[in-house]
Amino acid sequence: VTTTNRRTADERTKKLRQRLAKAIPEPRCELDHQNPWQLLVATILSAQSTDRRVNLVTPELFRAFPNPGALAEAPREMVESLVKSTGFFRNKAKNIQGMSQKLVDDHGGEVPREMDALVELPGVARKTGNLVLGTAFGIASGIIVDTHAGRVAQRLELTDETDPVKIERDLCEVFPRRGWVDAGHRLVLHGRYVCLARKPRCADCALGELCAEREAEPAGSWSERARREQRRVESRGESD
Ligand code: SF4
Repeated sequence: VTTTNRRTADERTKKLRQRLAKAIPEPRCELDHQNPWQLLVATILSAQSTDRRVNLVTPELFRAFPNPGALAEAPREMVESLVKSTGFFRNKAKNIQGMSQKLVDDHGGEVPREMDALVELPGVARKTGNLVLGTAFGIASGIIVDTHAGRVAQRLELTDETDPVKIERDLCEVFPRRGWVDAGHRLVLHGRYVCLARKPRCADCALGELCAEREAEPAGSWSERARREQRRVESRGESD
């Protein structure tokens, strides 16, 4: 890579970061939760499902079983029926109970703040670890790469990789460490509400001019598009 190419690439990624920050000024996790353990449970339930669906089942689940000890000891069939609508419910029930039991046995009922300990928990991989550390504890351990974030990173040519761990490594080069938590949320939300898998809203995308993969020319100024994206994200897609 020549110095000029690198400088051009740096300027482009700087613009991408600025525009994403404008379009999504308040990045957040959309899984409802009141403590780190609830977030961990909700994240396990969100695999192959949507945050919206998970948010429908967790209030009742946490009312019935308000802490790791209670969930660990709950009858399996009851947990299964409470989480059934999120799909893969047998495995998920087993994992949220196994995870809760391990918290009780090894961590005094608390969620550990280290990635090494988190990924030892049943049903927890690096993506979940990053989400919990960043969202619940504000610890920048890496960047969340779920299906949305991965797709956006590829379309924006921030990575050539397909493996989430390698995509994450590339993204950590693009975003400064202090911005990792927000960057992960922003990429997820951008993918969920604008850069959709099937029909991305390219004409309406704040990043349009910077994206070689765009399927339509950007309409109007980027700051107008960023304002629309902000409304879209804050209304959870209800403004469409
Ligand atoms: S221009 Fe289209 S493909 Fe590119 S980031 Fe925006 S929505 Fe995604």
